[in-house]
Amino acid sequence: MVETADIVVVGGGCIGASIALHLAERKAGKVLLVEKEELANGASGKGIGIIRTHYTHPLLAELAHQSLKLFHQFSERYGGYNSGFNPCGYYVLVGKSDVETLKRVTQMHRSTNINVDLVDLQQVQDVVPRLNLTDVAAAAYEPESGYGSPPQTTRALAKRAADLGVEIRLHCPVQQIKLDSQGQVAGVVMAGGEVATRTVIDCVGPWAKKFIEHLGLEFPVTPVVEHVLVVERPKEFLSNHPVISDLVNLCYSRSDADEPYTRIGNSDPKYHPRFSLHDADEFQGQLFPNITEELHQKLLHRFPILEKGKIVEKYSGIWGVTPDYQPIIDKLEHVPGLYCAVGFSGHGYKLSPIIGDLMSQFVLGENNLLVDKLKLFRLSRFRKNDLIRSPLSYSQAKGLR
Ligand SMILES: Cc1cc2nc3c(=O)[nH]c(=O)nc-3n(C[C@H](O)[C@H](O)[C@H](O)COP(=O)(O)OP(=O)(O)OC[C@H]3O[C@@H](n4cnc5c(N)ncnc54)[C@H](O)[C@@H]3O)c2cc1C
Repeated sequence: MVETADIVVVGGGCIGASIALHLAERKAGKVLLVEKEELANGASGKGIGIIRTHYTHPLLAELAHQSLKLFHQFSERYGGYNSGFNPCGYYVLVGKSDVETLKRVTQMHRSTNINVDLVDLQQVQDVVPRLNLTDVAAAAYEPESGYGSPPQTTRALAKRAADLGVEIRLHCPVQQIKLDSQGQVAGVVMAGGEVATRTVIDCVGPWAKKFIEHLGLEFPVTPVVEHVLVVERPKEFLSNHPVISDLVNLCYSRSDADEPYTRIGNSDPKYHPRFSLHDADEFQGQLFPNITEELHQKLLHRFPILEKGKIVEKYSGIWGVTPDYQPIIDKLEHVPGLYCAVGFSGHGYKLSPIIGDLMSQFVLGENNLLVDKLKLFRLSRFRKNDLIRSPLSYSQAKGLR
């Protein structure tokens, strides 16, 4: 007899795990979470994990704010599991040309009750005396933000999902979505056999383009390699520091909680065409030439004391990036029964709890104001050349903010 499921969620990253969990919370019936390798095999395995609300687009700020609240309540909300969230605080630093934008973004956030304030540069210097602020003209601070561990969070969400009855199948690539004679979803074909279902949720992240090709659909999701450099802080600078979002030099850094390490990643969109792959399966942990050296220089510029620090690791992960750096969250009208939540670019981790909550409602046909706002992320925006744009924009960071 053919196995059946009410809903099959494909992809065991933070997005798929969160959606499966929230579906189970809403008693959606038999939910199967299918992952081709291990949980957090893709972007969620390598993310640097920054959790903040600083977005120029009001909806992203609102989603990030709702998600931040869920990270604060994570353990109570999700069965006692730990996401690795460390609310160590978050600074955003801007240069002269972006002072006005920072003020307006901060004002917009404060009007929606986000806990953020413009802060004096002296205050930043007092908290992190080792920072070089010579090219910084203004700063804002979010005391409730910080970072978490994306792989730990993914596993925590999946464990909670399993507690609530979700069946998780690892090492089980979905090879095909089967359609019936009306073109409606009828099931999935996996390495280990078939499952009949009327609802599939595609959460395959950077694999989005490839995964859906056999249905004649095209997702504009480009797999892009993202690099991280880790430096051990010297004895003169052992204490942890808050997350630093550096919009002057387009990078972000944070310290680890239990080691004297500072991690830095790139947020300059100009690199992305260079680091793009044709197919996410080409990703083998490769490092593109020169980028980690450039990251090192950016880190030394911001923290000159790290000249004395040792590089302890260089690694890379993979993002699924869309032309406007925003996700595709949709119900695909031309393939009834197929939903997607892919292309989260550089911000899927921080959004994962709220996206799981909203997407589960969307799939189950429940509606409210916030679920309705997900329409912004519809797939058709690319065909209609109606990309998501922010009313406010930083001079260089562009869509990443
Ligand atoms: C270096 C780096 C730094 C980052 N920093 C941040 C940050 O600071 N803050 C933030 O919010 N975000 C950050 N991100 C982005 C964030 O990690 C991603 O947006 C998020 O993890 C996306 O999750 P996902 O579940 O959509 O995709 P993924 O985690 O990529 O999961 C997709 C899963 O689908 C599986 N899959 C693919 N094809 C199939 C198939 N056919 N069958 C079954 N399974 C399949 C894959 O194996 C994979 O496990 C960063 C990412 C990287 C790489």
